[in-house]
Amino acid sequence: MKSLTDLTFDNRFARLGDAFSTHVLPDPIAEPRVVVVSPAAMALLDLDPSEAESEVFAQLFAGHKLWSDAEPRAMVYSGHQFGGYNPRLGDGRGLLLGEVVNQAGEYWDLHLKGAGQTPYSRMGDGRAVLRSSIREFLASEHLHALGIPSSRALCVTASSTPVWREKQESAAMVLRLAQSHVRFGHFEYFYYTQQHDLLKQLGEHVLGCHFRACLEQPEPYLAMFREVVERNAELIAHWQAYGFCHGVMNSDNMSILGITFDYGPYAFLDDFDARHICNHSDDTGRYSFSNQVPIAQWNLAALGQALTPLVEVDALRETLSLFLPLYQTHYLDLMRRRLGWLSSDAGDDALIQRLLQLMQDSAVDYSNFFRELGDSAAEQSLARLREDFTDLQGFDAWASAYRIRSAQDGGTQAERRTRMHAANPKYILRNYLAQQVIDAAEQGDYAPVRELHAVLSRPFDEQPGFERYAQRPPEWGKHLEISCSS
Ligand code: AMP
Ligand code: MG
Repeated sequence: MKSLTDLTFDNRFARLGDAFSTHVLPDPIAEPRVVVVSPAAMALLDLDPSEAESEVFAQLFAGHKLWSDAEPRAMVYSGHQFGGYNPRLGDGRGLLLGEVVNQAGEYWDLHLKGAGQTPYSRMGDGRAVLRSSIREFLASEHLHALGIPSSRALCVTASSTPVWREKQESAAMVLRLAQSHVRFGHFEYFYYTQQHDLLKQLGEHVLGCHFRACLEQPEPYLAMFREVVERNAELIAHWQAYGFCHGVMNSDNMSILGITFDYGPYAFLDDFDARHICNHSDDTGRYSFSNQVPIAQWNLAALGQALTPLVEVDALRETLSLFLPLYQTHYLDLMRRRLGWLSSDAGDDALIQRLLQLMQDSAVDYSNFFRELGDSAAEQSLARLREDFTDLQGFDAWASAYRIRSAQDGGTQAERRTRMHAANPKYILRNYLAQQVIDAAEQGDYAPVRELHAVLSRPFDEQPGFERYAQRPPEWGKHLEISCSS
């Protein structure tokens, strides 16, 4: 175990120099209080959870104090926002404090979001509000617990510093951890500014730090692009299989590591609806739930374009064409697990699509359906689930095909139930749950957000006494409007 003040830093990105990032000191927030902490994220830095009790903890993560070896930097990047190219984005309200090396030799970027203005703030105030910080914290740790690749979050600190959005709110900070904060948009920035030597330098950095195996390949940059395509296929398959809607899939929010990154107006589906648009500002539904698959491919094409000075374009194109088939393979694997099957059958895709259409037509709760299906499989009766569907004939036809397919898959019902419960979360981060704990936190009561975080960090476990967190949303909770401005 390490003490908080004694972390080991090795700031590789900062060493790339001023063409890549700018030195900026965090601007502290007033009267910081620790809202919520993730013990699992602390463990990544070899920190004992008790360190969060120390006075210096809140000071470090609210910008009042800095490790002597930290080198806070605002990174420059650009990117495509809602399909249009924005030539200059960058860290407008977050700072890469430095890279911590843990005892296992892993590097973790410490990124303090809400740390004040930087040269990339444009018209913004450099701040993050409490509600969006809590939302990022909860989602980061919950997706990780679900087995969905994600950046992580160590803690949220609240303050008395006022911030203006639609109304007056208070500033907060979230400490994000990721093995890299390089986005597709980093490559786009150096490509579109025609700084191809710097593009290559960035590529060498990313290869050397994050894709070392690609250096053994005859064409390392092509191998890296292939790896990014593969990781994104796997990531998006997880989002689609678990009903996660990101909301702002701009290319500056896409991580080069293929992890879920930059949480904004995201949502997990309550009732299944492939057309769901979780971002209130997304008028055309560019980032609707079902569009996430083609949009991921679109973003990968944008990255590929930025790599054209380094790799032959036909090779990039060919590699990009792997995305959809890879996605489909991962998606089917995940859905088979959710349905309790070990084997694969040529008819599975059609059976899954039929189920989703039935769920869509009857507005069935997406997460609870699969969890209950695990229990029903054990009882060999789908009678309870049947009540949720309006097209009973359609459901009966599907249920009978499901029974036949499950029997063909083999094994006992008890085994299937155990497998299904390990693949189908009982607890999911629903927007109404996040909203309830945010309302309490804004009143200074942090117990609810801490409890929700604890429940969501074990999403597959039965947690007696906490069943209320597994309930479908009340009517008000189905229509929450969440937009980009946070
Ligand atoms: P996001 O929508 O959070 O992915 O942010 C898009 C861009 O706007 C990034 O360059 C952010 O750094 C910047 N940005 C978002 N909010 C603020 C803010 N309150 N102050 C300054 N920059 C911001
Ligand atoms: Mg962003």
